[in-house]
Amino acid sequence: MSDLSALQAEVEVITDIDVLESVSRDQAALALHGRPLAAVRATSVADVQAVMRWATAHTTSVVVRGAGTGLAGGANAIDGCIVLDVSRMNSILEINQYERYAVVEPGVLNADLDRAAAQHGLWYPPDPSSWEISSIGGNIATNAGGLCCVKYGVTSDYVLGLDVVLADGSLIHTGRRTAKGVTGLDLTHLFVGSEGTLGVVVGATLRLRSRRSAGSALVVGSFPTVAQAGAAAMVISGGVRGPSMLEIMDRTTVRAVEAHLRMGLDTEAGALLLARDDSAHAESAALADLWQVVCKEGGATEVFATSQSDEVEAMFAARRAAYPALEKAGHALLEDLCVPLGRLPEMLERIDAIAAEHSVMIGTFGHAGDGNLHPTIVTPHGDEPARERARAAFEDIMHAALAMGGVLSGEHGIGTLKHEFVQYEIDASTMQAQERIKRALDPLCILNPGRKGLHS
Ligand SMILES: Cc1cc2nc3c(=O)[nH]c(=O)nc-3n(C[C@H](O)[C@H](O)[C@H](O)COP(=O)(O)OP(=O)(O)OC[C@H]3O[C@@H](n4cnc5c(N)ncnc54)[C@H](O)[C@@H]3O)c2cc1C
Repeated sequence: MSDLSALQAEVEVITDIDVLESVSRDQAALALHGRPLAAVRATSVADVQAVMRWATAHTTSVVVRGAGTGLAGGANAIDGCIVLDVSRMNSILEINQYERYAVVEPGVLNADLDRAAAQHGLWYPPDPSSWEISSIGGNIATNAGGLCCVKYGVTSDYVLGLDVVLADGSLIHTGRRTAKGVTGLDLTHLFVGSEGTLGVVVGATLRLRSRRSAGSALVVGSFPTVAQAGAAAMVISGGVRGPSMLEIMDRTTVRAVEAHLRMGLDTEAGALLLARDDSAHAESAALADLWQVVCKEGGATEVFATSQSDEVEAMFAARRAAYPALEKAGHALLEDLCVPLGRLPEMLERIDAIAAEHSVMIGTFGHAGDGNLHPTIVTPHGDEPARERARAAFEDIMHAALAMGGVLSGEHGIGTLKHEFVQYEIDASTMQAQERIKRALDPLCILNPGRKGLHS
């Protein structure tokens, strides 16, 4: 066991078993986790540097932790590691109204940044459903997406620059604060989505936009089948003026949400499609008319449109409640595949077929406009054979997505959960190039080892 005394001289080191257990895993039910040697709750860049210098000197693994809301086991401890929790580094250091950027520490919660930006008439668009509970550092490390990303892009589109502590404890600064800048290699976007395998994000400069107009129209279509809802999503998303949100919930999900929220959702529909536009009122109304026609022609049995903000918000609250609602029904194993839009209806049908083949319940919801689906396999608590079947269904869904030209993860990351499947998406030479980058930045391979498909 490594000697912690040198580290204890620099930072507070936690070894209490109950506290260690509480920081040893994220929200991915199936991903395994180990027993850490210790944890450190960093409050400064110097703390992070001290941990990394000590870890390098003692060749000890470090698992970086933000808010722990990840769904891929990315923040899960491994035996003998240090859990480096950066959630207490949570200050918003600057909001620049004229240059439209924010400078933040990594532990700032996504919603807190957006609320602070709003006070200046500005907006931080990336909006994972976990926006109230997930950290900017975690969002950057996973390149989080969300509901409005179909129109406004994902986290990487908003990261201008980063402060990163490398494995040896050195601090680097990437990117810029100006609107444009191409000096040097684009290291910023190498770290975005790297899931803590290349460095610890200790600061970020993020692009902000002007706050959106209040205008907003919502169209909700009830379809007999998920495939029909998927086909309508293809048409709406592929239109000249696409939606600002385009979400799908299948019948299993709608029923779970209705049981959870009791808001009078159509529980007989095969699927609900939610299309939102946020442009000025007149334009929104015209688009809503068009989408209603698309839904009806696509077989929708019921379509309603509203521009009442309370109704719009209620429907998106229902959509955001999808995962918590399904989780209430049992042990939930969540997928995160993304397929080309043209294959969306086929993928939705395939998921239903896989559920039948493995005799498991799957509730599918997700960002239909991006082709990004979250089939969630729910099994009764304590039913081991059902969990085995869920695991088999999980793998079949991944392979089906890959066979359709899709990817293993659209936004949650690979973490430990899908580590072994990366080989099916990325060829050996490309993985070797990634391993070389990993070793250049982390020669001892101590940062978040055993995840993201990296062997080093
Ligand atoms: C109810 C619910 C809804 C969700 N909805 C969405 C959604 O719509 N879209 C979406 O993309 N995700 C969603 N998620 C997943 C999750 O919230 C995101 O992956 C989020 O970005 C994780 O942030 P976190 O702070 O919790 O990170 P953690 O879970 O703590 O860590 C995630 C990964 O990032 C690494 N990491 C964390 N902080 C740092 C740092 N400072 N430097 C380097 N590496 C770091 C960790 O090592 C780990 O690999 C949802 C989760 C839940 C529970």
